[in-house]
Amino acid sequence: MTRRPLVAGNWKMNKTPQETEAFIERFLERAALGDDLDVLLCPPFTSLDRAGRLLAESDVALGAQDLHPAEAGAFTGAVAGPMLTACGCAYVLVGHSERRHLFGDTDADVNVKLHAALAHGLKPILCVGELLDERRSDRTEAVLSRQLDGGLDSVSPEQMASVVIAYEPVWAIGTGETAMPDQAQQAIGFLRNRIACRRGTACADAVRILYGGSVKPANACDLQAQPDIDGALIGGASLDPESLAQILEATRTAVRGAAC
Ligand code: PEP
Repeated sequence: MTRRPLVAGNWKMNKTPQETEAFIERFLERAALGDDLDVLLCPPFTSLDRAGRLLAESDVALGAQDLHPAEAGAFTGAVAGPMLTACGCAYVLVGHSERRHLFGDTDADVNVKLHAALAHGLKPILCVGELLDERRSDRTEAVLSRQLDGGLDSVSPEQMASVVIAYEPVWAIGTGETAMPDQAQQAIGFLRNRIACRRGTACADAVRILYGGSVKPANACDLQAQPDIDGALIGGASLDPESLAQILEATRTAVRGAAC
């Protein structure tokens, strides 16, 4: 089974609509897009409408960084799934570590958001990952199992075709410290095996599992060359069109099986 890699930029709370426009113009000029990999940008909510218009005719998909599970209503400050699709979003992150650890999203919250995304025709990217002390105390697999099973609770086999998983060790996010390729492979291989045990090998072989955590042009190829890694979720390095374009090239090199 060949899984087409997904290279996704998570801009977090960065870039105004004007800065978003400047990035997209430069990125579309610079990046070599193609049908060998999928490219996704996740700007902040305030830039989604402008980004959606600018990307509409391109091969770059648009995603949001979070959503509220309700369809509409009295939820001050929140943004619902139909608002995201109206801006052109095809994907949405759920359970990003910053949502879990800074905003208190529990596995149950993440699961409700994931179902809301599916209900509104959005592809959820379920983020999972352990804290440094969880890794040091040998609890990585227990944490990943809990987040994976909780996040995917009651998701049907048909719905799994729209789900993407991202393994993001929290100790590697925004720290400059990247998991070694074999560490990332081990954790992602573990996630794929768990999906195989619980949902069958066809589902496990088909689902895309990304790595995230200080991915940069210099380390992207070695990470993407790992057999179970199907792309990247990139924070800091996705803010610069040049560096994101270089990560696409590094991913292509790995996919072609060429030397990194
Ligand atoms: C992220 O935001 O998901 C992320 C992995 O950030 P960074 O690449 O900056 O570590």
